[in-house]
Amino acid sequence: MCGVDRVVLVTGAASGIGRAIAERLRADGADVLTVDREDAADFQADLTTREGNRGAVEAALERFGRLDAVVPNAGFQHVAPVDEFPEDRWDAMIALLLTSPFLLARAAWPALRESGDGRFVAIASVHGLVASPFKSAYVAAKHGLLGLVKTLALEGAEHGIAATAVCPAYVRTPLVEQQIAAQAKVHGMPEERVLEEVILEPHAVKRLIEPSEVADVVAFLLSPSGRSFTGAPVTLDQGWTAR
Ligand code: NAD
Repeated sequence: MCGVDRVVLVTGAASGIGRAIAERLRADGADVLTVDREDAADFQADLTTREGNRGAVEAALERFGRLDAVVPNAGFQHVAPVDEFPEDRWDAMIALLLTSPFLLARAAWPALRESGDGRFVAIASVHGLVASPFKSAYVAAKHGLLGLVKTLALEGAEHGIAATAVCPAYVRTPLVEQQIAAQAKVHGMPEERVLEEVILEPHAVKRLIEPSEVADVVAFLLSPSGRSFTGAPVTLDQGWTAR
């Protein structure tokens, strides 16, 4: 959908949502540079570092000679009460979920401007709009990411760059599977009750979203029809925020 001649950089693309986005965009004919700390990606980088983010943009430009869109998606979760939340995890989470998108935007901005139809589509979360207990760093970072995207939309307007953020509720990926044990601990319940009673509890529709559904939204936002969504979050949350 996003067109054969588009070059897109997708982070966190070795797993889950990022992998589904990269597969979908390639099937649509885009040239995609996948970035991850895992070696399954085209370019391996630790995106909690300045060099990692700069290097990722340079790698895309080196390989394809241009860059039309950036999809910051890499992330992880940590579930703990605020008074026990490890300070190092807070720093790492802000670095990956908030500072990495900023560094990617900063490094890619000249190329996005040159593209003439640049796009920045961050994978935020419904936790960019509302909070849940025990996720202080994640919720704070995702709220901050929405602020970054709004600013990029305003700065990008005169340069033909559109910026938006996708806000999904729970998606079937390792990030969700890996938090079941921690959720059971903080909520004091057995792991088999966590999916229904904690994870799906705020969903009106009691179903995990599939990664391909998020990829469909990103493909649409990168298409010509997605241009006008700049500055606003795009929510797919199974009715979570309808209450
Ligand atoms: P995932 O764990 O399946 O994939 C995350 C990827 O990020 C992994 O490949 C991992 O190696 C990579 N990564 C982690 N730390 C990195 C680092 N320092 N440098 C480079 N790469 C790193 O998770 P996912 O569920 O696909 O999450 C992708 C994005 O979607 C995240 O930003 C997450 O917050 C967001 N999100 C997920 C859900 C969900 O329910 N799964 C819901 C809303 C938003």
